[in-house]
Amino acid sequence: MGDTVQQFFAVKARIAAAEQEAGREAGAVTLVAVSKTFDAVDIQPVIEAGQRVFGENRVQEAQGKWPALKKAFPDIELHLIGPLQSNKAKEAVALFDVIETIDRDKIAAELAKEVARQGRAPKLYVQVNTGSEPQKAGIEPREAVAFVKRCREVHGLAIEGLMCIPPADENPGPHFALLEKMAREAGVAKLSMGMSGDYETAIAFGATSVRVGSAIFGNR
Ligand SMILES: *Cc1c(COP(=O)(O)O)cnc(C)c1O
Repeated sequence: MGDTVQQFFAVKARIAAAEQEAGREAGAVTLVAVSKTFDAVDIQPVIEAGQRVFGENRVQEAQGKWPALKKAFPDIELHLIGPLQSNKAKEAVALFDVIETIDRDKIAAELAKEVARQGRAPKLYVQVNTGSEPQKAGIEPREAVAFVKRCREVHGLAIEGLMCIPPADENPGPHFALLEKMAREAGVAKLSMGMSGDYETAIAFGATSVRVGSAIFGNR
């Protein structure tokens, strides 16, 4: 068994242990294996080991490797976890099954247009910039609940979840707690939070999916 596959099974085991520790149901947390910068030869063994949910942060990079893998493994679910430019909405709707990074009206409007045009409806999450970091994507926390409502009522989009990336230098717990509170206020069920360094904490705070890259595939 290769290192990557071994690390994948180790992460799966730690997720299961964290679910139990937090009193969550077994299988309550979906692992999104973040394969950005890695090639199909690195990804395929993880697919063959049983993983079906993957995350990529760039539309163009994903277009280079995922169409062939999705053809070979049709039950793959691909998540877009990186910032989305409106000129890439068409490609994003065509390729991704979940788009986690809606954070402004312009993107919501472009996605709505593409969903109508292509007749393909990825699941949609709103990204919240819980630390209000100027360089980071995501809607401001104080605008998040109203934005989810606008996505639904103005743009006609069914928003299923919220996503956040806490500031790298802060304790992530309060950010996860804030996202969970906003999800309750906005009436959305899915919480995408937690990465290689903090996914067990995120599970304790109610994550329904964790986005884990380097702990599986190694350093980028
Ligand atoms: C790269 C990335 C991850 C995975 O990060 P690791 O620390 O390698 O697990 C998760 N979420 C987003 C949005 C990312 O861009």
